[in-house]
Amino acid sequence: MTNFAQNPLDTEITYLKGVGPVRGKLLNEIGISTVRELLQYYPRKYLDRTNIKPINHLKIGEEAVIIGRVQSFGLRKTRRRNFFQIVISDGSGRLQCNWFNGISWISDKFTINQKVAVFGKIDFYKGFSISHPEHDILDENEDPTHTGKIIAQYSSSASLKSAGLDSRGFRKIITNALLHGGRELSDHFTSNLRSEVGLNSYGESIHTIHQPENAETLKQAIYRLKFDELFFLQILMAKKKAFTKKEISTPYPDIGNYTREIYEKLPFQLTNAQINAMRDIRKDLGQPHQMNRLIQGDVGCGKTVVALLSSTIVADNGGQIAVLAPTEILARQHYKSMKELCDLVDLKVELLLGGKKGDERDKLLQKVSTGEIQILIGTHAIIQPDIEFKNLGLVVIDEQHRFGVEQRKSLLDKGNHPHILAMTATPIPRTLAITYHGDMDVTIIDELPGNRQPIKTFVVTSDQQERVYNFIRKEVNNGSQCFIVYPIIEESEKLDLKASETEFKKLSKEVFPEISVGYIHGKIKSVERDKQMEAFKRNEIQILVATTVIEVGIDIPNATVMVIENADRFGLAQLHQLRGRIGRGDKPGFCILIPGKNDGFISERLKIMESTSDGFLIADEDLRLRGPGDFFGTKQHGYMKLKIADIARDGSIARLARQYAFHVIDDDPELKKSDHQGILQKFKTEYSHMYAYLQTG
Ligand code: ADP
Ligand code: MG
Repeated sequence: MTNFAQNPLDTEITYLKGVGPVRGKLLNEIGISTVRELLQYYPRKYLDRTNIKPINHLKIGEEAVIIGRVQSFGLRKTRRRNFFQIVISDGSGRLQCNWFNGISWISDKFTINQKVAVFGKIDFYKGFSISHPEHDILDENEDPTHTGKIIAQYSSSASLKSAGLDSRGFRKIITNALLHGGRELSDHFTSNLRSEVGLNSYGESIHTIHQPENAETLKQAIYRLKFDELFFLQILMAKKKAFTKKEISTPYPDIGNYTREIYEKLPFQLTNAQINAMRDIRKDLGQPHQMNRLIQGDVGCGKTVVALLSSTIVADNGGQIAVLAPTEILARQHYKSMKELCDLVDLKVELLLGGKKGDERDKLLQKVSTGEIQILIGTHAIIQPDIEFKNLGLVVIDEQHRFGVEQRKSLLDKGNHPHILAMTATPIPRTLAITYHGDMDVTIIDELPGNRQPIKTFVVTSDQQERVYNFIRKEVNNGSQCFIVYPIIEESEKLDLKASETEFKKLSKEVFPEISVGYIHGKIKSVERDKQMEAFKRNEIQILVATTVIEVGIDIPNATVMVIENADRFGLAQLHQLRGRIGRGDKPGFCILIPGKNDGFISERLKIMESTSDGFLIADEDLRLRGPGDFFGTKQHGYMKLKIADIARDGSIARLARQYAFHVIDDDPELKKSDHQGILQKFKTEYSHMYAYLQTG
């Protein structure tokens, strides 16, 4: 008998009443293969009873839900076009619903006297009407005007709909799923934990999310399920962290001559924030466990020197260091600034870029494999498989979010659990940080070196172009330099490139004929680009017209003005990074943002840039306005697709969930205690595949 005992939640979806092979296959395609997974297909939204209006109370221009019966339907013709129309009546009046396209698949959905809910903006033309309403076919017992029930609506696709799985179809099979397995929805949390956090039971919450009785319990159910999702995400983080801590790495405990001498020869005093970062890193490097630390700090806060001193500590103890940078310009700059100091103490640094080939490359690889080269700096060229280190002890990853999991892994595999120092100038909103690098230790450098000048930011409209030019002229005459930046958006790259080229010609020939103007963009050869950059650095060029290639890394203390054209096409965080390129010397900086044509609304967004220079605040604002998609490539974090929680909005739930998850794992890393069996079970069935993925990070 026990052979057949199976948790009904694990029943294959095809065998659920009302599904069958055709729907089953379609459901599989959207990731639903069991009853359990169907129950986790949460509604997209709800038919809100508070918004239901009798037809005779409708007002033109408002958005409303109307529930009524289909009185007639069919194709209508005017002289200009055909359209499909249904007329519904709710006893108080009649409403026309019109579809002007998509007619073929909408037209065979309706039957006379069918009960429907429609939603949309009310028009009036020979009576009340809605064009292209959202609509939902209801069952006889599904009438929120009478039952007071809130009705769940599910997202669907054309192919699901054609198999009968529109919202109503989903409601039906989900009702079956609840009957089939609802009783088995046992809670993975103990009642202690639940009452401490204030969570309703799991089973109740799943029932409620699909079939809410009222708004209040629905709210509680949503909270519970969001907490769940974020909790298990944090369990992943906590486990990953515990795993890293267990791994044996070589400790690098001693400060030796390299570090001591370079420290003495630094042309400046470290800021307190840099000293704190070094303290954290020293402690980590001294342990026989892998360091996994992220240094987060605004552009110009001085992360490079922190990376250098971390490297010298490792070199002092006989280890090698790999420094990975996302662009050639940045790799070169790291190389240059590190080499200057390393040469003084005879510490061997080399640079490896994609262009290096043949003999030269072979020799370099040879020296890396014998350990003669102690610090290897480069782009992704340094992660190629034939590069072997003798003793890789530390991996420094600059702008770490620009690298994929696989790239980081290939570099890490060149050593035996080398310590990791990741750096980023992207001020990641706190909410995202705990979700995305929840497994890392984070040090924030929140202080700029004392000589840094404040940057004044102005949003001006394009009709003030002339004034902007005059301002640039004045600054250049005073001996300063200027960036003019154009956005290149990938989809329209060619057009953008052409536009920036045209502008460059105009600027150099017509506007500033007396000034030397340079031009760089992503498509020109790196040799040429570097020539221009070097010329700009030496002040042979005073105005540099550029696309986003200058985004990271460039250090030109004499540049005081940055003009950003079509600024609304950049994210705020990106604008913040760009403007960090100026005001790096002893003169104040000016950032001038020019939004594209006719966007009063967008320049409101840009106003945030005028009012603050706090990178975190800007990042939070960006997240709120644009969602998390812009912060990281979706590929890298695709495994974290959330079903119900919203990373941008559920920060406080995320923090609470993190606290509890870490508490559980700190106390019981393997989830062996009886109180944690429910968590272990759910983790195994639903999250372990993500764990495997995380391990490679
Ligand atoms: P980022 O954090 O953006 O990578 P960098 O490391 O490139 O910043 O540092 C920016 C500039 O500030 C460099 O020219 C660097 O030499 C200088 N710098 C770094 N730390 C200090 C400091 N403590 N005092 C003065 N200047 C510093
Ligand atoms: Mg840097």
